[in-house]
Amino acid sequence: STGDMKILLLENVNQTAIEIFKQQGYQVEFHKTAMGEDELLGKIKDFHAIGIRSKTKLTAKVLEQAKNLICIGCFCIGTNQVDLNYAADKGIAVFNSPFSNSRSVAELVIAEIITLARQLGDRSIELHTGTWNKVSARCWEVRGKTLGIIGYGHIGSQLSVLAEAMGLHVIYYDIVTIMALGTAKQVATLDELLNKADFVSLHVPETPETRNMLSAPQFAAMKDGAYVINASRGTVVDIPALVQAMKANKIAGAALDVYPNEPGKNGAGTYNDDLNSWTSELVSLPNVVLTPHIGGSTEEAQTAIGIEVSNALSKYINEGNSVGAVNFPEVSLRSLDLDQENTVRVLYIHQNIPGVLKTVNNILSNHNIEKQFSDSNGNIAYLMADISQVNQSDIKQIYEELNQTSAKISIRLLY
Ligand code: NAD
Repeated sequence: STGDMKILLLENVNQTAIEIFKQQGYQVEFHKTAMGEDELLGKIKDFHAIGIRSKTKLTAKVLEQAKNLICIGCFCIGTNQVDLNYAADKGIAVFNSPFSNSRSVAELVIAEIITLARQLGDRSIELHTGTWNKVSARCWEVRGKTLGIIGYGHIGSQLSVLAEAMGLHVIYYDIVTIMALGTAKQVATLDELLNKADFVSLHVPETPETRNMLSAPQFAAMKDGAYVINASRGTVVDIPALVQAMKANKIAGAALDVYPNEPGKNGAGTYNDDLNSWTSELVSLPNVVLTPHIGGSTEEAQTAIGIEVSNALSKYINEGNSVGAVNFPEVSLRSLDLDQENTVRVLYIHQNIPGVLKTVNNILSNHNIEKQFSDSNGNIAYLMADISQVNQSDIKQIYEELNQTSAKISIRLLY
């Protein structure tokens, strides 16, 4: 039952998460700091779920001790701190929060559009260093200009709406056909976007296809004096080619929030030529705004992460719904009415090998299967089935029979 659920929350995850878990009736243990491997080794076996941010390392060694763990919530975007494959092999689903900071990124880009058009970065640096330099040459209003958005997903589409409110015309390029918001228009090719846009902003994921998506030929295809904004991933823009295009006065300004190699920690000297060979050239160019991957870093995004991840964990714990899991088959069925008597939801996580469903359905087929869904991801498969007209002894028998199947990784029965 949910009252027996114990959840360990580390690294000061947002308060909203604690409230949501308490509402579910779970027992919550909260720590402000991360936990080292030794401490986790002693503790983790008592918990059914754990919430972490980027500093707690959930290694295979730790997860091996996690005898009761059902799921892991990463209250952040990244999931490298967890051994995802090992977790999957043990039947532990891992969730994160990919979309809770979309609005924050879109707002940063809006700020950067005007910052570049008005050369605000340079004017500010000049005055900070004692130079009054009042200029209007090549400073522009953004009204009536064209913004080209590459990747019209969560962030790109938010940006589209905000930009139109400032009087920009919006065009976008995406590999899939997406319904335009407002009066934005999808264009058929990347070149068409590059030919028409005064501002080009990238919002695509990091994939083999998006690596160096903007390089010398693409800069050449852009309008003279265009601006480039990248708050997506550092691999998407070929920075040496950008430096060349700026030196040739082709590109009038750039705002970068992400880099091919990013420092692991804050502080002077962590972002330098040892990490990225072009850093010194880039920082010496005019009208280049550089920010340290802060696109999604706001208080509001932290709250949204707390809500998004704790809801995903609660749905998985209470209903078995694994949609959004990063290492795991994604399975969901309409919410089960647990108050309804004589009904059980079977959650069966198993090795993805031939013949398993036949065995399992042999066990289940003596009963009335209302709904069933199964999915696989790599070595792991997950079957969810709602069965009606069962009594306590049927439920016990289903459990015992499933428990003897050789491909079983874990079983939960919700009733
Ligand atoms: P999303 O998945 O919602 O949208 C991405 C869009 O790009 C999709 O519409 C997809 O169809 C499109 N796309 C994929 N490959 C493409 C290609 N080759 N050509 C054209 N379009 C393509 O993602 P999102 O949440 O909008 O995030 C976009 C990017 O922003 C991601 O790289 C994400 O990692 C990054 N991001 C950065 C920050 C930050 O702090 N700077 C914060 C959050 C997200």
